Amino acid sequence: MMEEIHAPRGIKLNTKGWGQEAALRLLMNNLDPMVAKDPKNLIIYGGKGKAARNWEAFDKIIQSLKSLENDETLLIQSGKPVGIFKTTENSPRVLIVNAQIVPRWATDDIFWDLEARGLTMYGQMTAGSWIYIGTQGILQGTYETLSALAKKEFGKYSLRGKWVLSSGLGEMGGAQPLAIKMNEGVALVVEVDKDKINRRLRDKYLDEWTDSLDRALELKDKAVKSGTSISIGLLGNAATIYDELVLRKIVPDVVTDQTAAHDLNLGYIPEGYDLKGAYEYRDSNPSDYKKKVYESIVKEVKAIIWFKESGSKVFDYGNNLRTRAREGGYSRAFEIPGYVPAYLRDLFTIGSGPFRWLALSGEPNDIFAIDDKIIENFTEDEHLVNWIKLAKKMVHFQGLPARICYAKYGQRERLGLLMNEMVRKGEVSAPIAIGRDHHDTGSVASPFRETENMKDGSDAIADWPILNALLNAISGASWVSVHHGGGTGIGNSIHSGLVIVADGTKSAEERIKRVLNADPASGVIRHADAGYQSSIDVIKKGVKFRTPYF
Ligand code: NAD
Repeated sequence: MMEEIHAPRGIKLNTKGWGQEAALRLLMNNLDPMVAKDPKNLIIYGGKGKAARNWEAFDKIIQSLKSLENDETLLIQSGKPVGIFKTTENSPRVLIVNAQIVPRWATDDIFWDLEARGLTMYGQMTAGSWIYIGTQGILQGTYETLSALAKKEFGKYSLRGKWVLSSGLGEMGGAQPLAIKMNEGVALVVEVDKDKINRRLRDKYLDEWTDSLDRALELKDKAVKSGTSISIGLLGNAATIYDELVLRKIVPDVVTDQTAAHDLNLGYIPEGYDLKGAYEYRDSNPSDYKKKVYESIVKEVKAIIWFKESGSKVFDYGNNLRTRAREGGYSRAFEIPGYVPAYLRDLFTIGSGPFRWLALSGEPNDIFAIDDKIIENFTEDEHLVNWIKLAKKMVHFQGLPARICYAKYGQRERLGLLMNEMVRKGEVSAPIAIGRDHHDTGSVASPFRETENMKDGSDAIADWPILNALLNAISGASWVSVHHGGGTGIGNSIHSGLVIVADGTKSAEERIKRVLNADPASGVIRHADAGYQSSIDVIKKGVKFRTPYF
């Protein structure tokens, strides 16, 4: 059992180099109580997404990173450090593979049995790859999704005068109320756990809370009428509340859900139970419990279909709610569109996706200095500059100060080089760790989410994330990871991630040039190969790679 964990700050190394140091700090940062969902159990976010297999493995990872030389590579097998190899200074310091399982065995029952036996670990996306930055990480994606929705459905990049119904204020879902506000809309988010509501109020991701639907509707009506934005947390169960709104014939402008429905064991609380009651019931009668979860999910999804038919813009937000409803016997669940094909694919096709960086110093001013530099240097990209200005004003840091933005092919390399130069010139006080979510342009095969409904039908082809990881590793990323099951659960996705450290050196500059070109480029190629014209246009305009086809 560990004490509270906080990443070391400042410029004093606890390891033999900044690559190892960044891995150590970011692993510890994932487990900071300000960042993680359940740090005592090593759970970071998204159901049971963990950073290390168990506490013994965690201790051994830390020891390994402390002794790791600058030409060695540590291997992590599902959250457990298993070997250290002599490689080269330009090789990754860590290679991580989490939750891989031979496809025929890739079912929830088999995986979670192996997990309970201590043989594997569920790493979600950035939990087991040590680049989770708290709710801000998802904030940008949610902001982008909603602003793309606003533009497509309502004709302008604003949700002013519109209200959004959603549920789940967990690690990812907790970003929704602020993202809706940043888009000038009104958020009503249902959450079954009062502690989650309290946490979002504390971090200023939520303005108000109530346990009364009438009160929530009153607040919502007032704000919609006056065109002001407000976020309201409603303590309750999504299945009950969505159904009640249907009975009252109240139609939101936008409807989604971000409970952790991908995880039937602890991600979706069935109607009529609080958290404690649900877990007791689950432990005493697992199969009846599962039935109740399915019944509630089906009830909620039926309500969402009614909202859709009544004029709401509805979308599935990447938590596999539709699949669960279909498994529960509701055949119309997939009439709800996935958010990627509906709103985000256009960004993925140009190599754009959630790019992020952390100040290893722990100094917020380092992030603000980079914000200012971006505002100064990227004037041609108004959307990016607006986001950075909004984020600087409204985003509360959790753990090590960090920033995220959607950056496309070309921009990522420019941003990385700019940060490396700032480190070199002493404009920030310590190196910067640069990475991204696995939910990205070229790094994921996930037919219920990122690769749903691809133009050429290649939704389930999983060669791309593996190629992406191999390419990032040989290009010199500081660490690279390949995971299974993130986002949409076991059997449903394969994805990869990377981190590269800008320590101001010439060698970092060269690696940044390679990695931050190769990584988004693999997304451009993946989408060009699937027939997306905007990807082909990016290639034709001029890129730093060659392809025999375009
Ligand atoms: P989480 O486990 O931290 O939070 C889920 C929340 O839902 C909890 O607070 C829980 O109390 C609440 N909840 C559960 N059942 C409920 C019910 N019936 N009614 C109301 N509230 C209920 O999970 P998270 O990290 O917030 O992730 C949510 C989902 O989003 C996961 O399925 C995750 O895989 C998925 N996800 C989406 C994206 C994306 O980009 N859209 C990215 C990563 C993960």
